Amino acid sequence: MAADETVGTSVLGRPIEAIVFRPPSYARPRPPAILFGALHGDEPATALQAQRLIEELLDRPPGRETWIIPAVNIDGLLAGTKNNARDVDLNRNFAAANWTAAHKGGSFPGAIPESEPETQALSALIARVGAERLVALHATFKVMNWDGRGRALAEEMARLAGYPASGDIGYPTPGSFGSKYGLDQGLEVVTVEVPYLEVDEQAWLDTRTALRWAVDLPS
Ligand SMILES: [Zn+2]
Repeated sequence: MAADETVGTSVLGRPIEAIVFRPPSYARPRPPAILFGALHGDEPATALQAQRLIEELLDRPPGRETWIIPAVNIDGLLAGTKNNARDVDLNRNFAAANWTAAHKGGSFPGAIPESEPETQALSALIARVGAERLVALHATFKVMNWDGRGRALAEEMARLAGYPASGDIGYPTPGSFGSKYGLDQGLEVVTVEVPYLEVDEQAWLDTRTALRWAVDLPS
């Protein structure tokens, strides 16, 4: 069964929409998965991937409870901006042990950890449903990056997509999603980086099998 759910509200009052797929009651219980796109609003290729995955899963549901949020940063997506409507980089705003108020370039982390409603919405959902497998969609590297327990999943997804896998994105990411849920909490976190910024069907074609694997693989 699939159902729409609003999981939060953006700075500008827009609903942050999710779709949840729930397996039949007799299915073997597995920890829920959450997959999300457009944490950065200027990466619309990631929202497209999430939408395409939803369309596939409506035809053939996943083997575990799966939540998909095409656009966490809905205000940024509609404005074409990386940051949210208060100019905060949401991937520096999570309450990770390494969060810092210091910023470089355009990566404003917010005044305090999880100051932003979009960050709060995603964090609240993860806590509420007890998700242990977390897949973040980003651009524009070409890599499957893992944090926490995500290595095996990232390596398999990399193989399926023909992308490299890496445990190090190559620069510090204080207050990032991967820092909080991978480094701090040890969950299974994979960041899918596609080399396409704009809405590009190729991003979906590259990652289609890997994303299906992420929501189907028994564990
Ligand atoms: Zn990004």
